[in-house]
Amino acid sequence: MRRPLIAGNWKMFKTAEEAHVYAEELSRRVSGVENREILVCPPSVYIHPLVRAFADSPVMIGAQNVFWEDEGAYTGEVSAPMLRSLGARFCLIGHSERRQYFLETDATVNQRLKASLKAGLTPIVCVGETLKERQDNTTIERVSSQLTNGLKDVSTDDASRIVIAYEPVWAIGTGKTATPEIAQEVHGVIRSLLAGIFGAERAGLIRILYGGSVKPDNIDVLMAKEDIDGALVGGASLDAASFERIIRYRG
Ligand code: PEP
Repeated sequence: MRRPLIAGNWKMFKTAEEAHVYAEELSRRVSGVENREILVCPPSVYIHPLVRAFADSPVMIGAQNVFWEDEGAYTGEVSAPMLRSLGARFCLIGHSERRQYFLETDATVNQRLKASLKAGLTPIVCVGETLKERQDNTTIERVSSQLTNGLKDVSTDDASRIVIAYEPVWAIGTGKTATPEIAQEVHGVIRSLLAGIFGAERAGLIRILYGGSVKPDNIDVLMAKEDIDGALVGGASLDAASFERIIRYRG
């Protein structure tokens, strides 16, 4: 019912030449993969060349961020219609690195989300608690407020077009993965929160990805969990062979 989605977030890595070589290799490695969606989110300068390079493969391209206005005097920003016109299909929104270094808030997540939906991009809204919040037992509170404020005024009709990524901040780039049990527990809560916002039927259609040190050796057990519908992969997506193994998870 929910089509698994394996998404790679390159963050700010790779030269143009490296991006090109990777695209050739990954295209070759994933040809014929079925029953799951594959996404690569490179730095925005590589979106157009990678859309072309992956044209004959199942790999889709997404952006790592999006601005909320369609156009205007906003130096350095890229809008949702611009990304769509380049062939991007998805967009990460509110990644913890954006919240931490670029001071993004739930309010701007909400603006970016609405702009993405309007332009026909599929938003992947990132939520997750810090180590301190987990130690203080406020994980659910944190994730709940990120969801409630981030998804404010989104129509029930648009709900199934949204993807949520649960990424505990303490697990991103640290090598510390949430156990499948911890991840499932939060994913289950997220699904209930979504049911409270959009109704149980719509919530059942929304994909919830897990992100945080996903690797070839932990993807299978994570994907075996009921409410884990895919993965958002940072470091391990930079190498085509390891990303292929994650894409070809067993389960
Ligand atoms: C990410 O960038 O969203 C991420 C989860 O990174 P990593 O897989 O490297 O922890």
